[in-house]
Amino acid sequence: MEYAVNGQPTGGPEAGEDWEAGENSPVLQVLEKIREEATGLSGGLVADYIPELAHADPETFGIAAVSAHGRSYCVGDAEHAFTLQSISKPFVYAIAVEQLGLDRVHEHVGAEPSGEPFNAISLDERGRPENPMINAGAIVTTSLVESGSPEGRFERIRSVLSAFAGRELGVDESVYRSEAETGHRNRALGYLSLAGGVLVGPVEAAVQDYFRQCAVSVTVRDLAAMAATLAVGGVNPVTGERVVSQRTARHTLSIMSSCGMYDRAGEWGLRVGIPAKSGVSGGILAAAPGAFGVGVFSPPLDDAGNSVRGVAALERLSDDYDLHMLQMPAKPPSPVHSVTRDGSTLEVRLRGEIDFLAAEQVVSRLAEAIDDARVSSVSVALERVSGLSDAARSLLAAEITELEDAGVDATVSDPRGVRRR
Ligand code: GLU
Repeated sequence: MEYAVNGQPTGGPEAGEDWEAGENSPVLQVLEKIREEATGLSGGLVADYIPELAHADPETFGIAAVSAHGRSYCVGDAEHAFTLQSISKPFVYAIAVEQLGLDRVHEHVGAEPSGEPFNAISLDERGRPENPMINAGAIVTTSLVESGSPEGRFERIRSVLSAFAGRELGVDESVYRSEAETGHRNRALGYLSLAGGVLVGPVEAAVQDYFRQCAVSVTVRDLAAMAATLAVGGVNPVTGERVVSQRTARHTLSIMSSCGMYDRAGEWGLRVGIPAKSGVSGGILAAAPGAFGVGVFSPPLDDAGNSVRGVAALERLSDDYDLHMLQMPAKPPSPVHSVTRDGSTLEVRLRGEIDFLAAEQVVSRLAEAIDDARVSSVSVALERVSGLSDAARSLLAAEITELEDAGVDATVSDPRGVRRR
């Protein structure tokens, strides 16, 4: 495999190309080992309050991961189809935020881990659901999705879920009917939110679309691709399609990290530390920012409603392979590729992705030229830079002005136009 200067592998799939790991891939071996260990756990109960879910085979167990570069790794029952259930919630939240903006969505629903079970009557004093990742809040979020016509709303949701997964997703009609016939508690939650003035009615239409989104059929590979899309800022790394904005992806990951695991969100943050969402069918979707999307499916649930084997597998994965989002490298990689002096000209070559943190390193290095009497001009070369964030761009521009004000002639060579992207 070829490596770019910044240490990122440059080989791998082009967008739109399906890349599956070869049999001997060490990443597959890692996932297989984790799956084997978690298979030893026997606790938990398959959800049966939606009658159709009770038919799930408790031994089905699959794990998939999709990297930020779009490479897929699947072990166990990776082709087994199951329904999204609550895992649909962050994605429908993302659609609402994308359409209405964060502030308008949060006039209707809070952003607090309610510390209550998925079906709790969890409303604040105004009648607004507190947590958009459990039923009360999620039914309101579904009601907010705009599509031009009430009939079009679910189709809009289904098509965005499909873009996240990178393939057309369909509804498991028997699970949908089973919940539509029995889900009266969810109807009651819908009416309470309507009474609180936050659900966009009619309630039955919102609840029906919510039941349908919960019954969308997926595999663990779909979950991993959906998670990876959030993990890399809203672009599906397999298809290359931008599904939501970078900002919406960030808001969605934030809500998942505080509210995604029912009333075990705190414990999850401590032990796993990867924004995640679980569902009562036994799936867990986890999005390690900038790194991987992971999907796990194993139906037996613990008393909080999270898959027993799924939680164990993700805990192990996070701990053994440093995926906790608050685990930081002791020293961030240097964005400075080289610094050379030719006579009185200092040439500073940069590399990789330059974000605010990297730009802070760069500008402090450039500032040294001001105090160096041997240097009268500075040239900053961006040939090896793959991306420049807005924050980095403005920091760099301010430092160039600073150099010029100090009488140091400053030029930037940017043949690939990263400053304009
Ligand atoms: N459709 C399920 C319900 O509303 C989803 C619950 C969940 O996965 O948390 O009861």
